Amino acid sequence: MLTFAINLSYLSGAVLFVIGLRMLGSPDTARRGNILAGIGMLLAIVASAVQPLENPNNNYIWILASMGIGGTIGYVSAMKIKMTAMPQMVSIFNGLGGACAVILAFSESLPYYDQASLLNGGQLAIILSTLLIGGVSFTGSLLAFAKLEDLVRDDKITLPYHNIFNLVLLAAAVALGVVVYLQGSSGSLLLLLLFTGLSLVYGFSFVAPIGGADMPVVISLLNSFTGLSAAAAGVIYNNQLMLVGGILVGASGTILTVLMTKAMNRSLLNVLVGGFGGTSGGSKAAAGDLVAREVSLNDASIQLNYSQSVMFVPGYGLAVAQAQKVIKEVDDILEANGVEVKYAIHPVAGRMPGHMNVLLAEADVPYPKLLDLEDANAALPNTDIVVIVGANDVVNPAAETDPGSPIYGMPVLKVWEAKHVIVLKRSMKPGYAGIENPLFFHEKTRMLFGDAKDSLQKLVSELKSL
Ligand code: NDP
Repeated sequence: MLTFAINLSYLSGAVLFVIGLRMLGSPDTARRGNILAGIGMLLAIVASAVQPLENPNNNYIWILASMGIGGTIGYVSAMKIKMTAMPQMVSIFNGLGGACAVILAFSESLPYYDQASLLNGGQLAIILSTLLIGGVSFTGSLLAFAKLEDLVRDDKITLPYHNIFNLVLLAAAVALGVVVYLQGSSGSLLLLLLFTGLSLVYGFSFVAPIGGADMPVVISLLNSFTGLSAAAAGVIYNNQLMLVGGILVGASGTILTVLMTKAMNRSLLNVLVGGFGGTSGGSKAAAGDLVAREVSLNDASIQLNYSQSVMFVPGYGLAVAQAQKVIKEVDDILEANGVEVKYAIHPVAGRMPGHMNVLLAEADVPYPKLLDLEDANAALPNTDIVVIVGANDVVNPAAETDPGSPIYGMPVLKVWEAKHVIVLKRSMKPGYAGIENPLFFHEKTRMLFGDAKDSLQKLVSELKSL
C-alpha cells in the first residue's frame, strides 16, 4: 500500500512538473504553473522522505535539518532579491544543484570503494558522468554568478590560449575518467577524488573566457548541465521523479541554449571557443570627436504626442529603474491621443531570458503589443519615433556595420531605420558588453539623460500639460 502511494505521488509529481513547465510558457499562466510545479516538488520530497520510514537507520534528523536550513535560505533570498539580481540568484542556485549531484554521486560511490565491492560498469559510468557534469555546472555557475555581480573581470581570469588550455584540461579529465572506470571500485579512491577536482577546475576554466553578450547562452547551457547531472543522480538513486525532473530541466535548458545561440546568430561551438562579446574589446569607431545631441523633456513630449507611431525598446535599464508601470502610463496617454504604441523585445534584452516580457506583463502591457526581433525590425522603417528605455547592446549598429566590433554579427533592433530615436539613459556609459554605441551619435538620435523612471514620470507630466 505504501509503495503504491509513493509511486502514485511520483507519477502525480511528474505530471505536475510537465503541466507547470507548459504553463510557464505564457505570462498569464506562469504564476499558476510555478505553484503547480512547486506542489509536484512537495509531493516528490514527501514521497522520497517517507521511503526510509521502514528503515530503522533512517536519517530523519539530517533530512529535516537540511530541508529547514535550505528552505529558509531559499525563502529569505527569494523574498529579498531584487528583480535585477534575479539572474545571479538563478545562477548560484543552479550551481548548488550541480554541487548536490556531485555530493550524491560521490557519497554513493564511497561504500563501494570502502569495501572494494564491485560497482557495475553502468553504475560507475553514471557516477563519473554525474561528477563531471555536476562539477562543471557547480564551479561554472559560481563564476557566472561572480561575472554577473561584477566581482571578477574577464581579463584577470583568462590565460593566453585559454581555449587550448581548456581542451587539454577536458582531455585530461576524460582520460582520468577512463582510468577510474577501468580500475572499477577496487581502484584508488584518490583517483576518483582527482577526477572530481579536475571536473571542478574545468567548470571554472570553461566559463572564464566567455563573457559580455555571450553570458545568456552560457547560463542556459549550465542550466541544462545541472538538469542532466540531476537526471544522472536520479539513475544512481533509482528515483524516477528525480530522473524526470532532471530530464525536464536538461531538455528545456538545451532548447533555451539553442534558441539563445540562434538569437545571437552564433553556433554553440563559436560561443564556447570564440570569446565573443568580452568586455575588453571595443569599437572605437563611435566615439572620436562625435557629439551626442540632447532633447528637452518638452520637445520630446511634443514629438511623441504629434507622432502616429511610437516603438518603445526596453532594456536592462528599465529593470534597474523599475520603470515598467510608468512606461505603461506614457503608453496609455499616447494611445488615448491616437498614437499607435508597440514594444520591440530583443531576445537577450535585460539580464535573463524573457526579462522584458516579465516586466511588461507586471505592468499589464497587452501581450499583442510586444513585437519580437523580426517583426519589430520589419515595422521600424514605418515607425515615427523609437524610445529606447535603458537598452544599449541590443540596439548597437556596430553589430551590423563594424566587422571589428566584438558583437559583429549579433542580430540587433535596427532602430536607426525609424524616423527619430530618443534614448533614455543616465550617462554615455556602455552596456553589458562594455562597448561603445555609435547609435548615440547618429543624426536621428537625441539623448534624454536621467534615470528612466524619473524621465518617464516627467514625460507623463509634460504630456498631460499639452
Ligand atoms: P545593456 O546592458 O546593454 O544596457 C543597459 C543600459 O541601461 C546601460 O547602458 C545603462 O546606461 C542603462 N541604465 C542602467 N540603469 C538605468 C536607469 N536607472 N535608468 C536609465 N538607464 C539605465 O542592456 P540591454 O538590455 O540593451 O542588453 C542586454 C545585455 O546583457 C546584452 O549584452 C546581453 O547579452 C547581456 N546579458 C543578457 C542576459 C539575458 O539572458 N537577457 C544574461 C546576461 C547578459 P547608464 O548607466 O548610462 O544609465
